[in-house]
Amino acid sequence: MVKIQLPENVSYIIGRLHDAGYEAYAVGGCVRDCILGNTPADWDITTSAYPEQVKELFNRTIDTGIKHGTVTIMLHGEGYEVTTYRIDGDYHDGRHPDSVSFTASLDEDLKRRDFTINAFVYNNENGIIDLFDGLSDLDNKIIRCVGNPMERFTEDALRILRALRFAARFSFTIDKATLEAAKSLGPRLALVSAERVQCELDKLLLSDNPGFIRLLNELELDKIILPELCRLSDIQGLCSALEKSPKDHYIRWTLLCYYLTAGLDKSAVEADAPHYADKAKQILRRLKFDNKTIDTAALFIKNSLRKLPSPADAHIDTKLRRLMHDIGKDNIESYLSFRASFCNEDENYEHCLIKCIEIIEAKQCTCLKELALNGRDLTAEGYAEGHALGLLLEELLNRVLEEPSLNNHETLLTLAAELSNKK
Ligand code: ATP
Ligand code: MG
Repeated sequence: MVKIQLPENVSYIIGRLHDAGYEAYAVGGCVRDCILGNTPADWDITTSAYPEQVKELFNRTIDTGIKHGTVTIMLHGEGYEVTTYRIDGDYHDGRHPDSVSFTASLDEDLKRRDFTINAFVYNNENGIIDLFDGLSDLDNKIIRCVGNPMERFTEDALRILRALRFAARFSFTIDKATLEAAKSLGPRLALVSAERVQCELDKLLLSDNPGFIRLLNELELDKIILPELCRLSDIQGLCSALEKSPKDHYIRWTLLCYYLTAGLDKSAVEADAPHYADKAKQILRRLKFDNKTIDTAALFIKNSLRKLPSPADAHIDTKLRRLMHDIGKDNIESYLSFRASFCNEDENYEHCLIKCIEIIEAKQCTCLKELALNGRDLTAEGYAEGHALGLLLEELLNRVLEEPSLNNHETLLTLAAELSNKK
């Protein structure tokens, strides 16, 4: 019998349900991850007890999704979702079951799950229960729907994207019938909310195999959820760039958007970059992304075609300080990784990064906030507030970006006076 080392809290919850006369098991992703030798991110428990019965047995519980049978048990600051065995009713909208009903049958509960490798349960008493040959699919590295894939994807089209992201995460192949159903039911992805699509695509992009994004194109799912990808001829270039890039949400989404905007245009020039940045914003907004993701992608893409100085460039430091001014010191490493991912001049990026780190360590000024003189200092000296003052500060910053040693209070006051012919 395969033995899984359940965390103490999970054993406790299962044990307590069991002692009260109910069945209870760890279920789904956590069991799969343990068998694969990975540490599960969270533990889900499935039980024959009704939500009210679960709540009676534990001190601290939260009604997470009580209608669907889910109660979260809080133990030592951690939450564990405990869900009553259930059968999902019909899915008329391709998203949610019309109703769910509780059942006393574990088999029924497992039948509603998406893939064979997600449909195991385990407890210390009975070991692994594997109704759908998920263990051999795990061994053979196969993603296969539980039951009839056409029916499963018709019920909930999001499962199509889940198949892709699990394949990407574990480097698995998708079983033929499951793959064919994914292709023919792809149009039903139009029924799935942008937020759920975003979440699955994010997991796919941040997996070990972000290049599996090509499956979206091969299965013609891009038509529905990412139409810009249909027009990309250099999908291979996108995939290798993604695979080369660090596993970072901002970098990978920016790269994808770069290919879907500037990358669609072979004659893209620096002057067009703001236009591509706008297009990237549209794509990310459509997928309901947060502002930080949208703004970072737009900023990087706006600067994506900018020429970076070579090590031999006599003005390399000034150019890099200007770059950091435009991109932000905190972003510079991500930005350079983004650039390096789709270019072959690795050494140049490496050199730029080293230089940027030197500039940061030397605490050189690259933005107005770091300037040794601010607007208030100037008004105290009798300068009038207003637009001209802003321009004067910009010009001072401009000089400091060229010559960092100018960044002290006295020098800048003198320079301000010269620039404005005040004194
Ligand atoms: P992850 O490690 O990403 O959390 P997971 O397999 O645990 O992967 P969850 O989304 O946490 O995935 O879902 C937990 C379990 O619930 C799954 O293993 C699966 O059995 C079931 N499940 C989740 N979403 C669906 C769905 N859309 N259709 C059918 N079953 C699902
Ligand atoms: Mg999970």
